[in-house]
Amino acid sequence: MQIRSASRDFKQQKVVAVTRKDQVYTILRQAIISSQLAPGEAIRKEVVAAQLGVSRTPVSDAINRLADEGLVEIYPQTGTFVARLWLEKIETAQFVRVALETAAIRRTTEQLTPETLEWMQQNLEQQRHAAAHREFEHFYELDEALHDMISDAAGLVGLREIASRERSQIDRVRRLLLHYEARMAETLVEHEAIIAAIADRDADRAAKTMETHISQMGRMLLHLRDKRPELFKS
Ligand SMILES: [Zn+2]
Repeated sequence: MQIRSASRDFKQQKVVAVTRKDQVYTILRQAIISSQLAPGEAIRKEVVAAQLGVSRTPVSDAINRLADEGLVEIYPQTGTFVARLWLEKIETAQFVRVALETAAIRRTTEQLTPETLEWMQQNLEQQRHAAAHREFEHFYELDEALHDMISDAAGLVGLREIASRERSQIDRVRRLLLHYEARMAETLVEHEAIIAAIADRDADRAAKTMETHISQMGRMLLHLRDKRPELFKS
């Protein structure tokens, strides 16, 4: 009885520990993607552990996972840093994104239901509101949600997961651009053109407007590198 109770405790502790590990990972990842932790910024394990009220082990685990994802760089002699933006890698991620999302939007347009269109138009209405009130974070979330909605409506199970790994590089840039370049108004106009093409059931135009929209980021990115070279790998 004593042993059984002890083993139950042990299992509970293990579950808590696993959850904690994931939580630390999720919190750190979010901080990097949202640029609360800027590209190139040092990450001190003991500081993060103290801030989150955990031991160093889950922090180390999270950092290793983030390093695998290319979001963190570990230099044994110098320390651990938020990965700087890497132009060539972002270009690849961008290429994958254009390929996936233009293919997805064609399917979505061809098999569009009135309900899906209604959701998209509601999202767009919320974007207009967020842009008018300069709510960057909220706008960003709605932007994400709209792209997910368009991809999901293509009806390909697991497509979003396939895209998400590549997207972590792009997501950081998109946030930075929204803040530094006040790109919100332009983005809104592009989203409106995309949804109008979908509503017209015009798959070619939908794919074209999506490609134009995603490609804008490349141009903005070069501009950002000129303004903030310290964020980039040289
Ligand atoms: Zn967008």
